[in-house]
Amino acid sequence: MTKRIAIVGAGTAGLHLGLYLQQNGVQSTIFTDKRPEDYPNVRLLNTVAHHAVTIDREKALGVDHWPDAGYFGHYYYVGIPSMPLEFYGGLPTGPSRAVDYRIYLPTLMQDYLERGGEFEYRDVGVSDLDDLSVDYDLVVVGTGKGGLGQLFARDEQSSPYREPQRQLCVGLFKGIAPAEIRAVTFCISPGAGEMIEIPTVTFGGDATALVFENHPGSDLEILTHTRYEENPQAFRDLMLDKLRKHYPITARRINEDEFDVANSELDLLQGAVVPTVRHGHIKLNNGKTAILLGDAHATVDPVLGQGGNMASYAAHVLGQEILATESFDNRFFEQVDARRAGRVLGATRWTNYMLKNLREMPNEFVEFLGAVALDRTLADKFTDNFNRPETQWDIFSSPATMKSWVEENATGSEGASSPFEETAAV
Ligand SMILES: Cc1cc2nc3c(=O)[nH]c(=O)nc-3n(C[C@H](O)[C@H](O)[C@H](O)COP(=O)(O)OP(=O)(O)OC[C@H]3O[C@@H](n4cnc5c(N)ncnc54)[C@H](O)[C@@H]3O)c2cc1C
Repeated sequence: MTKRIAIVGAGTAGLHLGLYLQQNGVQSTIFTDKRPEDYPNVRLLNTVAHHAVTIDREKALGVDHWPDAGYFGHYYYVGIPSMPLEFYGGLPTGPSRAVDYRIYLPTLMQDYLERGGEFEYRDVGVSDLDDLSVDYDLVVVGTGKGGLGQLFARDEQSSPYREPQRQLCVGLFKGIAPAEIRAVTFCISPGAGEMIEIPTVTFGGDATALVFENHPGSDLEILTHTRYEENPQAFRDLMLDKLRKHYPITARRINEDEFDVANSELDLLQGAVVPTVRHGHIKLNNGKTAILLGDAHATVDPVLGQGGNMASYAAHVLGQEILATESFDNRFFEQVDARRAGRVLGATRWTNYMLKNLREMPNEFVEFLGAVALDRTLADKFTDNFNRPETQWDIFSSPATMKSWVEENATGSEGASSPFEETAAV
């Protein structure tokens, strides 16, 4: 059989699939709306951390271009008024890494081009899918834009929300001294939001991503609706005020005279995400089938940093199945959906659980955090499991499984609350 693959979208989903197929001798064309040279001039797209499992795939694809930019763990701050918690968990599987996608995506596009890959630069819309499916043996839809996502029905069982659960204010900043260990700082301000600080490779070198996940209606939501361009000093003052009040573990490392967007006002992104899973494939009018991949298939809120990692995982599963199949028949689509479901739906359910419980802070969740804060073994396992969201979902799927995971894994090892004794070379 011939295997000519049309991939719509050059995000992580489309590029990891295209590069994987290329490496294995299968021809693909990627249809996308942006050229590599467009990226430096667009607004910040996101602030994506790839975990070690994804970096391993990048190594295998030969696109591991930032080998020394990894970070080694997570500092946690839980601002419970009567008992603030601070602890640290490492990443024994390997470092994670964040590179501004306005650098990452065009770099991988160049890799694909230099290895003989083909791009067609255009906006693909719903009406184009039938034509693509005539010219190609399989159409992969790696973007929900242009109405493409709407074609595929919502998976209601896996999509509990119809509204965004957080109001986001995200940016790349300078003036924040690194923590002692190069690590993410994950902060929880009960009743107000979460904030994730990520050491990130940017156009100007290393800078700090701040991801404010503001609870709708909270004291922090104003960050999502205040515009930097209108009054940069007022924006900086507001942000510093909220950081001091809600996220002191980061605020105490800020040089307030130097604090500002890292390179330009394009380093800010404000908005919200509706977490949604869609059915993975549809029959087109001409009887052929198109398959969804990446965010277009399953969009999660970025609070746990899973979307890009899920997209890479699913791209590899799809790539393996394309190599293995003799026919793009129903069984092929069933097989892809079944194989990617554990990771993709596990990440989705764990993220949706955390969106709810980080807001409501029920007793069993606070007890879980308290136990992890006191035991370095638990903190390392919990942090490392950001690589394996399906395992996190096994743990968080009920209060009983949370309790039994703590009981089975606790070693009484001290040190989770004293990360500052570690050296940067962990
Ligand atoms: C603030 C924020 C922080 C995040 N943090 C993390 C994190 O730490 N870790 C993590 O794993 N994930 C994170 N994510 C999620 C991550 O950004 C996405 O899951 C990931 O980028 C999805 O990749 P994709 O290839 O599926 O889609 P996209 O990246 O959306 O790619 C879509 C592609 O399609 C192209 N395109 C768009 N419209 C058309 C059209 N009509 N025709 C042709 N081409 C088109 C686009 O240019 C792009 O190339 C974060 C997201 C946000 C918003």
